[in-house]
Amino acid sequence: MSGNQSRVEAISQITNRVTTPVTMPDKLGQIWSEDVFNLTRMEWALSKNAFKAVKKTVETGAPLDPATADVVAAAMKEWAVSKGVKFFSHIFYPMTNITAEKHDGFIISSPDGTAITEFTGSLLIKGEPDGSSFPNGSIRMTNAARGYTAWDPTSPAYIMHTDNGATLMIPCVFMSWTGEALDKKIPLLRSNDAMNKAAQKVLSLMGETDIAPLNSSCGAEQEYFLVDANFANSRPDLLLAGRTLFGAPPPKGQEFDDHYFGAIPARVQVFMQDFEDQLYKLGIPAKTHHNEVAPGQFEIAPYFEAANVAADHQQLMMTLMKSTAKKHGFLCLLHEKPFAGINGSGKHVNWSVGNSTQGNLLDPGSTPHENLNFLLFCGAVIRGVHLYGPLLRAVIASASNDHRLGANEAPPAILSVYLGDQLESVFQDIKDGKVHAKLEGGVMDLGLSQILTFERDPGDRNRTSPFAFTGNRFEFRAVGSSQSVSGPLVAMNTMLADSLNWIAEKLEAELSKGTDQAAAVLAVLKELMEQHGDVVFGGDGYSADWHKAAVEERGLKNIPTTADALPALREESVKKLFESTGVLSPVELESRFEVYSEQYILSIEVEAKLVIEMAKSMIYPAAIQYLGKISDTSASMEGMGIELDNSVAKTVAAEANAMMAAVSKLIEAMEKEDFASTEEHMQFCAHEIRGLMDRIRAHADTLEGEISDELWPLPKYREMLYIK
Ligand code: ADP
Ligand code: MG
Repeated sequence: MSGNQSRVEAISQITNRVTTPVTMPDKLGQIWSEDVFNLTRMEWALSKNAFKAVKKTVETGAPLDPATADVVAAAMKEWAVSKGVKFFSHIFYPMTNITAEKHDGFIISSPDGTAITEFTGSLLIKGEPDGSSFPNGSIRMTNAARGYTAWDPTSPAYIMHTDNGATLMIPCVFMSWTGEALDKKIPLLRSNDAMNKAAQKVLSLMGETDIAPLNSSCGAEQEYFLVDANFANSRPDLLLAGRTLFGAPPPKGQEFDDHYFGAIPARVQVFMQDFEDQLYKLGIPAKTHHNEVAPGQFEIAPYFEAANVAADHQQLMMTLMKSTAKKHGFLCLLHEKPFAGINGSGKHVNWSVGNSTQGNLLDPGSTPHENLNFLLFCGAVIRGVHLYGPLLRAVIASASNDHRLGANEAPPAILSVYLGDQLESVFQDIKDGKVHAKLEGGVMDLGLSQILTFERDPGDRNRTSPFAFTGNRFEFRAVGSSQSVSGPLVAMNTMLADSLNWIAEKLEAELSKGTDQAAAVLAVLKELMEQHGDVVFGGDGYSADWHKAAVEERGLKNIPTTADALPALREESVKKLFESTGVLSPVELESRFEVYSEQYILSIEVEAKLVIEMAKSMIYPAAIQYLGKISDTSASMEGMGIELDNSVAKTVAAEANAMMAAVSKLIEAMEKEDFASTEEHMQFCAHEIRGLMDRIRAHADTLEGEISDELWPLPKYREMLYIK
């Protein structure tokens, strides 16, 4: 196809599209968890004793004896086969942001030639995918580079329906034969464990006697774009890089704010309903959906769940979003910045910790005692973000999220904590040693001192903060829309564990001096705030003043790119943090640095190659064709004695030449191989390669505004964002 033919065809396809008829949604009660092998199903299917054993495993992660595993496996298979399933698969979460699966049939050959199915406890518990095809960094796997998967009973098995059948999916951890974590699930489980242990210590010191195991919770709000597949198919950049590498801003951007919370377009509603029904069948509690700020952008937020389950569900949601969008003629973009100059997409990770006896420890509660527990846990988070800000920045670092962080719209690349006016002043007063002076609004008697009750949901939500307290949880807003929530949850749980350990030590020392409980808590928090209070910031996170003050006065770090962020994983303090809490060994941590660095370099190189190809094979030819047309016309006009203004031709020629000069530079830069270190290679990508890509784009985007619309080969922003 030449010129804009593919665009014209795409628009005509979209205009003439027959919309999928809307069916009445199934009743929630009928479909909820229908495809999940959850505890209720196990209770029906298993003997009392077997159920008791497996329930304990599900709730505490305690190992399951082989005999019970056989019984569970048989029941699981029975249930799945009755629903038309022929295959099972261990699903696991390698160090990429996607999931991996290896499918096996239930069927085994039998001597008399009949088809019989089998699924034993050992098949349920352990699988052996070919580990060598997944990133493992420097971890040398023995035994022919293989790893194995092991059932995670705390995340329920489910049935995945695809066009070619149904598969029983078994959530698993993935490790090397030498026991190193090769995935995103093992560290999450370990971090939860570390947090639980540390929290138990603090709560016992606070006089609690009945303390149930603590778990972290996560509710992730996912933003995404939908673009019509007809457009996407004519954009190699959207298909291969997930974002537009070229494209001039549309005359109408998002400045009218008329999309946010506006009516959801009909086609999108049909997509959402289909998508959500699938989620309900899988027991994923999708709760809210609405338009987002940018045109073509939407959000979905499931209700919060235990972090480990939420992380698995989040991955499943991303997979289903993409496949369901395809069914409805859309391409679903999870990239953090698919369109330059238009709002990007994030994933707000709402996080809290709690248990069944003390409840949510990040909820201020309604008694003085609950208030004290809350202040300690909240203080622990403040200390964590201050000490490990660079780690939090590293776990959300990716080539794609770099387009958002540090830009003027998304959370800034400086990690600070927003508490809300009231809570901030309480912590300030604790730091200044004058808590008892607070008297207005719901005073509580703490003996020696008095503390305010807090408003549940402080209305003054600060949208510019990367890490905000929102009434009963923290919201990590800088996480990228395409990322697994696992990395951020691991970092938060682990820094919390470290802080709670520190608090326990200090508190114990205070209490052993005979200080009363409330005074001891305030003394510990005073010290904590003196050391770490600088990370608390309630102002405008985007302002230039803050960027200056954060770095110069408060000593916080502004970490603009992934190249600057990932080296935090090699810092001594971070190594110590993970080793002392048992979450990641130094080898495991180093392998993560290597894998993530490699991913960063690779994704920039892929984009760069694509920029070169598109500039040479699509944009330059359009420019030449247009120049040809102008010169032909000029020549014939001249014959008639009419002289045409040649300024457009001059601009087009100059821009096309400048673009091709930058392309040559980029080709040359891509040939460089002699890097002294991975860090240096990443810096080269962040600045040299990206810089040249931006330069090429600037020329191409100018050309887009100069060249005749009928010759422009790529669907334009205004078309992709506004035609549905
Ligand atoms: P907003 O857009 O105002 O931030 P949403 O209602 O869209 O809020 O999303 C809030 C998310 O936070 C939901 O996923 C919700 O389930 C989750 N959430 C609420 N309470 C908690 C909690 N205690 N711990 C973790 N997540 C929570
Ligand atoms: Mg939010």
